[in-house]
Amino acid sequence: MKHIVSIDQCSAEDILRILDRAELFEKNPNRHLLEGKVVATLFFEPSTRTRLSFETAVNRLGGRIIGFSDASTSSSTKGESLKDTISMVGNYADLIIMRHYLEGAARYASEVSRVPVVNAGDGANQHPSQTLLDLYSIRKTQGTLYDRTIAMVGDLKYGRTIHSLIEGMSHFRPRFIFVAPEELSLPEEYKQFCREHDLPYTETKHFDEEVINNCDILYMTRVQRERFTDLEEYERVKDVYVLTNAMLSDSRPNLRVLHPLPRVGEIAYDVDDNPKAYFIRQALNGLYTRQSIICEVLG
Ligand code: ASP
Repeated sequence: MKHIVSIDQCSAEDILRILDRAELFEKNPNRHLLEGKVVATLFFEPSTRTRLSFETAVNRLGGRIIGFSDASTSSSTKGESLKDTISMVGNYADLIIMRHYLEGAARYASEVSRVPVVNAGDGANQHPSQTLLDLYSIRKTQGTLYDRTIAMVGDLKYGRTIHSLIEGMSHFRPRFIFVAPEELSLPEEYKQFCREHDLPYTETKHFDEEVINNCDILYMTRVQRERFTDLEEYERVKDVYVLTNAMLSDSRPNLRVLHPLPRVGEIAYDVDDNPKAYFIRQALNGLYTRQSIICEVLG
C-alpha cells in the first residue's frame, strides 16, 4: 500500500511517471478507472482548489466521494482523536485525502490507516500534491524540469508549498533565489537541505528587477496569516511584496508567474492579462495531476 505524505518519498522516476500519466489525463480527463471506489476527503483546514480538484478528479474517474470540508461538523469537535477518525473512515473508503493544521498529522494518519493516505497539506510542513502540479506546470511551460532558476517570493517560513517544492525540484539541478523579509525567511533545515544536495541558492530581502529578470519561474506566495501567533507581526509583513505588470517588462521571454493561490494582494490584477501569468492555468493542471496521484496510490 502506498501513501503520499511527503514529496521526499518520491524519486525523480516516481515524479516523472506521475507527470507523464497526468499528461494523458490532460488529453482525456474522463476515464472510468475508479468505478466502485470510494474516496474520503477530510479537510480539517480550509481549501478551495485542493479539495475541489481532488473531488473533480475522483468524479471524472467515476469514483464516489465522502467526507467533510468543515471539521466543525465532524466528531473531532466532540473530542474524537485523529486515530479514531482515520480508523473509522478506513472502514468506509478506499483512499483518504486529508488536510490538517498540525505538522506531521498526515504521517501519523498514514501510520494508523488501513487504506492509503494522501497528504493535502499538513500545517506549515508539506503539500506534495501541490508540488507535483507545480512540477507539471514548470515542465509544461519550460519544456523541461532541468536547470531552471526559480525565485520563491513571500512567506518562505510558513509556506508549505515552498518547503515541498524545494525538495521536489532537487532532482532537476535547480537554482533558487529566496526572497523574503527577515521574519519570513526560509527555515534553516531547508537551506541545509539545499547545501547537502548541492543546490545553489541566494537569499535577498529585495524583490526587484535583479530577481525578476534573472529567473525562469517566479513563484509568488501568500503570507500565511493562520500560522502567526502575533497578528501585529502579520500586519507588519503582509503587504511586503506586490508584483505588478510593469515589473515584468524586462523579464525573460520564458518566465512564468506561478502561485499556489489564494492570492491576497501579492499579485496585482494587472498581471492577469500578461501571457507570463500562469497561476490560473496552474490550478487547472492540479486536476490532471491529482487524477494521476490517485491512480498512483490506488493502482
Ligand atoms: N493553497 C496553498 C496551501 O494550502 C497555499 C496557501 O494557502 O497560501 O498551502
